[in-house]
Amino acid sequence: MTEQKEKKVEEIKKEAEAMKKCPVNKALYYIEEFLAGPMCGKCFPCEMGCYEARIRLKKLTEGQGSEADLFALKRIANEMLLSSRCKRGKDSAQFILEWMGTDIYKEHIEGICRDKECTALIEYRIIPENCAICGLCADACKYNAVLGEKKKTYKSGYQPFEIRRKRCVKCGECIKVCPTGAIVIVDVKVKETVGV
Ligand code: SF4
Ligand code: SF4
Ligand code: SF4
Repeated sequence: MTEQKEKKVEEIKKEAEAMKKCPVNKALYYIEEFLAGPMCGKCFPCEMGCYEARIRLKKLTEGQGSEADLFALKRIANEMLLSSRCKRGKDSAQFILEWMGTDIYKEHIEGICRDKECTALIEYRIIPENCAICGLCADACKYNAVLGEKKKTYKSGYQPFEIRRKRCVKCGECIKVCPTGAIVIVDVKVKETVGV
């Protein structure tokens, strides 16, 4: 039985690595899956640590994280590493700690997800001068989040297409079809600072 649960932990790690690019998002995915499955709740450091780590990681991915959350995450993971009763808890702590020595967690506090994956921290935008007014992005968007009228050769005066922030769910479908690379992903906070 324990062997099976440990196998599951390895599977979750692989899934997190394959499905998420951002290390904070990877850790959040891992913890949520671990809580939903192999975490048995038999010892306090692992059980409480995972619940608290989940809250702190979620705050970071949602742009609400602070230095206090980073500090708490390190404390939680170190406590789990030291006091968890089995390998599953210790492995989980290691998975959280793995990326904490880099700048990536800290950058999330500053509003930057370098993998452009944490949706609360990013925004899709169309660079007007690169837009060919072809309308492919609007056709690809299921959320009616792209505004614009396709160019007709016999008419003039068309405006570049625009993404409506409030409707955009950041699914990334528009970027895949844009033939001119006019759609970019920007950091919300950085954009606010420099006024992009
Ligand atoms: S460390 Fe092991 S025994 Fe303790 S709650 Fe986690 S999975 Fe259960
Ligand atoms: S797909 Fe690209 S070029 Fe075409 S309208 Fe959209 S942003 Fe402009
Ligand atoms: S990211 Fe998705 S929801 Fe947003 S404009 Fe592009 S296709 Fe539409």
